[in-house]
Amino acid sequence: MNAGAVNIMTQWIRPQLRALSAYHVPDVGHLIKLDAMENPYTWPAPMVDEWLNVLRTVSLNRYPDPHARDLKARLRSTLQVPPGMDIMLGNGSDELIQIIAMAVAAPGRTVLSPEPSFSMYRMIAAFVGLEFVGVPLDAKDYGLDMPAMREAIARHRPAVVFLSYPNNPTGNLFDEQQVRELIDISPGLVVVDEAYNAFADSTFMPYLTQYDNLLVLRTLSKMGLAGLRIGVLTGSPVWLNELDKIRLPYNISVLTQASTEFALRHYDILEAQAAKLRDHREQLLAALRALKGITVYPSRANFILFRVPSGRAAHIFESIKAQGVLIKSMHGASALLADCLRVTVSTPEENQAFLQALEKAL
Ligand code: PMP
Repeated sequence: MNAGAVNIMTQWIRPQLRALSAYHVPDVGHLIKLDAMENPYTWPAPMVDEWLNVLRTVSLNRYPDPHARDLKARLRSTLQVPPGMDIMLGNGSDELIQIIAMAVAAPGRTVLSPEPSFSMYRMIAAFVGLEFVGVPLDAKDYGLDMPAMREAIARHRPAVVFLSYPNNPTGNLFDEQQVRELIDISPGLVVVDEAYNAFADSTFMPYLTQYDNLLVLRTLSKMGLAGLRIGVLTGSPVWLNELDKIRLPYNISVLTQASTEFALRHYDILEAQAAKLRDHREQLLAALRALKGITVYPSRANFILFRVPSGRAAHIFESIKAQGVLIKSMHGASALLADCLRVTVSTPEENQAFLQALEKAL
């Protein structure tokens, strides 16, 4: 390596950043991909043709509408955003998490989240120089440990509390009354991250008008548009007007705006795919529960967390991979996830391939 560059770099890149490792995305090759909560379904051929015709009309020589007005209007009705509440778009919902963190970042301030949860909350806090407090979930059922949450909120007075609802990687929905209590007692923002809303049947969106410190975060990634990168933050214009100052003006490209608008006109197809995946989830849960030696956790998302016999997670993960199926090993990510693996719910055929590989591995 270039010793001179290393020398200068270490003087200037913050030590906190150098200590981090980049978000790991594995090489997939020809594996069946059940590691990233993607929707396995594509669009029917006539719909693809229609979409390509829409793209023909897009002016690539012009900057996108910085406010994505048409797209936001459609999202407002599709997602049933309450009247008086606003929408802000991100290049994926992780960009919106980053914008929220940047907006509150100041020395001595804290971001809080139960853990294990979505790893980017912790990482993004580190990127922008915020302290991060992770409050362990209840080891028994991955529910909120309310005494610990109350104590941590009172002690750290977090600028932002992130709650993944359902929670990634455990799959459960936190208790609604408990989440409402956390919103009540939090001195700063509470962001309810509903990335898996399409599979959950429960939302805090209607509560936006009741709480001054609540924002609800959505994404279209889990509904079949992961490649487009569209995240949606909803809440009071009092908050969003400030956050919008940090958003780079053209963060949603013309291709993304046109494609998302098009996809939303066919939202019934995306919803039908999500409904199918919810059914497949129930079948996969039942099949996993029938296997000896593993503990399966309930899921309200499009993935399932399960625990394998002690000390065997690495071997089972690798064996499943060698049989052509990529899932995600959560072992080592947190003490509460020892021996745990996570699988994305997919088509019956891919789920079956996974089940066979798992059975063989066990
Ligand atoms: N929130 C949660 C809870 C997630 O699990 C993910 C993706 N794994 C995201 C946000 C980010 O999704 P995206 O950036 O694709 O919108």
